[in-house]
Amino acid sequence: MPLTGLFSQRNVRTRSWVMSEQGAGMTHNLQHEYLKAMGVQRWVVRGKVGETVADSVPEQVGEGAGSVVPDWSSLETQVSTCKKCQLHESRTQTVFGAGNRHADWLIIGEAPGAEEDRQGEPFVGRAGKLLTEMLFACGLQRADVYIANILKCRPPANRDPAPDEVACCHAYLQQQIALMQPQLILVVGRIAAHSLLQTDCQLGRLRGKVHHYGDTGIPVIVTYHPAYLLRSPLEKRKVWSDLQFAKTLKKQ
Ligand code: URA
Ligand code: SF4
Repeated sequence: MPLTGLFSQRNVRTRSWVMSEQGAGMTHNLQHEYLKAMGVQRWVVRGKVGETVADSVPEQVGEGAGSVVPDWSSLETQVSTCKKCQLHESRTQTVFGAGNRHADWLIIGEAPGAEEDRQGEPFVGRAGKLLTEMLFACGLQRADVYIANILKCRPPANRDPAPDEVACCHAYLQQQIALMQPQLILVVGRIAAHSLLQTDCQLGRLRGKVHHYGDTGIPVIVTYHPAYLLRSPLEKRKVWSDLQFAKTLKKQ
C-alpha cells in the first residue's frame, strides 16, 4: 500500500490535552546516570542569543557557567570540529541539522546513520525518506521544519548512543533549541524521547501526551521512529495520529 494512502486515512480521534508526565516512570538509576554524566540538575534553555545559559550547559561541553549561546554559524563550526566524545574518531563528518531555522516545528531523531554520515544531513537515508513522506502527508515540506538529532556523529554500526555521548552532545541541541525557539518539538523514537525527556518510560506510553522540554514550556510530542515503521508498517497509522495531535497544538 502506498504510504500516502495509509497516511491519508482520516480516522483519527482528536485527543484532549494531557498534561506533562515528564520524568514519570524513569528509574532512579538511569536518571542518576544521565544527570551525573551531564553534571546538571535539570535541562533548561534560558533566553536567546547573547544571554547566559549557565547551569543548563553540561560541564563536559566545557563552556561552563555563564556561557553564551553562540549564533547559528559559530555553533555549526563548533560542532564540525567537536572531539568531545569518542564518536569523532569514527565519523566521516558531523551532522548538525537541516531545514528552516525559523520553523515552528523542530523534529529530533537519534543519531546519523550511514547515509547521513556520508552526506552530512539528517534523515536522508531510507528512514529519512519515510519521514519526509510522513511530513508531506500532513501538509508539511521538509523545508517547513528543522530537523536535528540527539547526537551529531554516527555511532559505529548504528549502535545505540551511550549515555556519556548523549551527555557530551546535549549542549549543542540545547543551543539549537535556544536559537530556534520552536513552537513544538516532535521527537521520533525511543532513544531520542528517553534522552530528551529524561525518562525510560515505554514509547507507547509517552505518545498522545504533551510533554515539555526542561522548564522551557516548549511542548514535546513523541512518536515512533520512521526506521521502526519500515519494519512495522502497520504502525504508520499511529504516527499519522500523533502528527495530527501535534498539529492541534499549533499556536492559536
Ligand atoms: N535516524 C535518525 O535518528 N536520524 C537520522 O538523521 C537518520 C536516521
Ligand atoms: Fe562532539 Fe556530539 Fe560528535 Fe560527540 S557526538 S564528537 S559530542 S558532536
